[in-house]
Order: sequence, then C-alpha cells, then structure tokens
Amino acid sequence: MAAEVRPRLTVLSGPSGVGKSTVVAHMRKVHPEVWLSVSATTRKPRPGEKHGVHYFFVADDEFDKLIANGELLEWAEFAGNRYGTPRGAVLDRLDAGEPVLLEIDLQGARQVKDSMPESQLVFLAPPSWEELVRRLTGRGTESPEVIERRLDAAKVELAAESEFDTTLVNTSVEDVARELLTLMHVV
Ligand code: ADP
Ligand code: 5GP
Repeated sequence: MAAEVRPRLTVLSGPSGVGKSTVVAHMRKVHPEVWLSVSATTRKPRPGEKHGVHYFFVADDEFDKLIANGELLEWAEFAGNRYGTPRGAVLDRLDAGEPVLLEIDLQGARQVKDSMPESQLVFLAPPSWEELVRRLTGRGTESPEVIERRLDAAKVELAAESEFDTTLVNTSVEDVARELLTLMHVV
C-alpha cells in the first residue's frame, strides 16, 4: 500500500471579510509553531498592522523589482493593490519538512496549484452572502468604494469554490482553526 502523502503546503483562500486573518490568528495563538508566509504588498497598512509581521509593505517600484528578480512564488493584483508570496522563505520551510501556510487570493491559489500540484487548497466560505457583507462592512477598515470592489471580487471567488480541495464554512473561528490544523497534520 502506498505511504500516506502528507501535503506540506496549504493554501487558505476565500473572499475578503470571510475571516481568514481571524482564523489564522486564532490558530497561531493555540499553535504558535505553525508558520505563515508573510506576503509583500503595495497596500497601505491598516491601523495596527506591522511591517514584517502582517505584510512587507513595499512601494510599487520595489514590488516591480521583486517580480523582475523572480523573488515571488506567485503574485496577483487584488482590488487595486498587488500582493505576492516571497519564494525563498517558503522553500526553506518546505526543505526543512515543516508545514507551510499561505493566506492568498484565488489567482494566487491557482498559480500555486499549477507550480506545486502537491499543495492542498482550502476555501474558507461565509455562512451566507449577507453575513459576508456584514463582516466586511463591520470590520470598518475600508471605504465604501473599496468594499464594493472587494464584494465584486468575492462573487468571482465564491464561484470558484469547486477548484479547491476542501471547503470550510466560517461559522465558528475555533472550529475552523481546529479543522485547518487537522488538514495541515499539526494536530
Ligand atoms: P479576512 O482576513 O478574510 O479579510 P478578517 O479576519 O479580517 O477577514 O475578518 C473580517 C471580520 O469578520 C472581522 O471583523 C472579524 O472579527 C469578523 N469575523 C471573522 N470570523 C468570524 C466569525 N466566525 N463570526 C463572526 N465574525 C467573524
Ligand atoms: P487584505 O488587503 O484584506 O489584507 O488582502 C486582500 C486579499 O489579498 C486577500 O484575499 C488575501 O488573501 C490576498 N493576499 C494576501 N497576500 C497575498 C499574496 O501574497 N498573494 C496573493 N495572490 N494574494 C494575497
């Protein structure tokens, strides 16, 4: 019988406001050893976001250089900003045999699946469309225009759920965090 193949790279995607950051933060509170890739972005920091912790906040020309130098495993433009996964840190962790988690958008998830087919794609879905709108609006971090852009993107992302290996519905942060840890073979 074939040995069990443990997916070592896990991609978490889902529409903006569904609760990805909240779930990941809870997961890491319980299991601080779980490593999450820190992305580069051209978006401006939200209050409380720290450079090097939540993102590497970079200028447009720096992002251009990251692309030109092949330093990004994947990258995408999302709702007016660019986001990308630094390649080196991810490959180092995988080489060390450690589980790796990426929290990225649908376009990035597709690129990772293409370049690393052994990765597992997890889709975080809202309990309902109304609840997604409530969460994104209730977070209070984006202008009405940006919320509109993100909800437009959300429709596209929700329509692509079947491309993912697993769907988790974010009703309870604790439950989803536990399920994600199980999928990553951390617990
Ligand atoms: P994302 O990272 O997917 O954009 P966030 O983690 O910022 O989303 O969550 C968006 C908002 O929804 C936040 O205000 C967060 O507190 C709230 N939220 C997240 N998960 C839940 C949940 N299971 N139930 C209720 N509210 C939630
Ligand atoms: P936010 O601006 O809300 O932090 O993130 C917006 C979207 O960008 C989310 O869907 C988030 O998952 C995605 N994102 C964050 N980092 C990356 C990345 O490195 N690559 C890609 N493709 N998407 C990312």
